[in-house]
Amino acid sequence: MFGLGDWLARVMDTRRAPRTAAGLVAAAVFYTGLLRIRSFNALEPRLGEKPFLRLVGAAPDRKRLCSVDTVGRALCRMDLTSVREVLVAMLAKAERNKVFREGWHGALRYVAIDGWEPFSSRHRHCRECLVRRVSVKGKDGKTIKVVPEYYHRYAVALLIDERFDLVIDIEPVLPKDLRPLVVKGKGPTPRLVKACLDEGELTAATRLIKRVKQTFGWIDVVVGDALYANGPFLTTLDSLGLGAVIIAHKETDEPLREALHLWKNQAPHKIVENEKTHERIALWDCPDLETLSTYEGKIRCVRGCVTRLKHPEDSPSTWCMLVTGKATRLAPEKALAVARARWHIENTAFHQWTTRWKLGHVFRHHPDAQRSLFWLFFAAYDLLTLFQYLQLRSYGRDSGKNVTRTISRLIDEMLDELARWESLAWDTS
Ligand SMILES: [Zn+2]
Repeated sequence: MFGLGDWLARVMDTRRAPRTAAGLVAAAVFYTGLLRIRSFNALEPRLGEKPFLRLVGAAPDRKRLCSVDTVGRALCRMDLTSVREVLVAMLAKAERNKVFREGWHGALRYVAIDGWEPFSSRHRHCRECLVRRVSVKGKDGKTIKVVPEYYHRYAVALLIDERFDLVIDIEPVLPKDLRPLVVKGKGPTPRLVKACLDEGELTAATRLIKRVKQTFGWIDVVVGDALYANGPFLTTLDSLGLGAVIIAHKETDEPLREALHLWKNQAPHKIVENEKTHERIALWDCPDLETLSTYEGKIRCVRGCVTRLKHPEDSPSTWCMLVTGKATRLAPEKALAVARARWHIENTAFHQWTTRWKLGHVFRHHPDAQRSLFWLFFAAYDLLTLFQYLQLRSYGRDSGKNVTRTISRLIDEMLDELARWESLAWDTS
């Protein structure tokens, strides 16, 4: 249904007259992700095995695809747009097949954004590494010294839904040397100067969300943590026609400060009991706040106090949210449900990527190789997720099972299948 082979075959790179086409290398990396092969060293023997060659589309012409060095080199030179296109084409196809048609709460489509740091190193670094200073104990266990630590950080956009979560895009947080020049000074002779600090997550996320909206016009609402609760970011979302549900923490920041002041001594505006989750939710709602000087429109503030009915002795957990644009049509309990779904990005995605998908392993420490590899691994992650929820309906969150375990089981089955395929190939040769 997804024509995966054609999409992978369209990946390009800038090597001159390569013996192994970029599309074949992309396919090898895609299956490295899907089959959870833990490193390029572990991939090496597979590059000469018949079942793997068939999988990537290189059999029967080739006895061996190439060396892992070639895989690494090709990854560094891959055309990023053409790699990202695999993921984009897959999501566009799913959208055309009406996978996201019904939307979720309020029939809207939601994207959660968050920062993700897959790895750090005290030794190796590349031109896109960010640097921080960390204190470490010396060899004697007593002296403390300060050393540089290199790391990569990305803003990640994840489509969140009741049934599944799909990665839709990532954007690196850039170090100061790679940031675009900044215009300084006004009047007839403004100067272009280098940025003096590494970028923040917000800057990368703003770039990300603009591209997300441009690529996937059908996205309606952005869901984010308290970092995104600021006027300039909400204004950007507004200009893109996107609504927002953003967690607000700081009680001293507008417009939450005003809302808390208005709610003082007020009884809850609405109380909802959820029989499924055994929760009682008290809600306060304030629709038209205009106290934020950096945002022109109206912001709605919602507060939800959640009591777990099975554990009434626990103190209730409280959530405050800023809601704008299309998302303001949601009932307050729905806005809360959307904000709480943000944990998917940390639980389903980030946790699984490091524990199961080996994304914390540095396959090749090079900025473009890293990005191409992530995009191919995310394409594998999305395709597996879609397959699991759409084709194997009895699996997964729908039936209240442990999703991560189900996926692991599925991978085991695929590997077994591949091994059987190998013995078949052996018998007939
Ligand atoms: Zn690096």
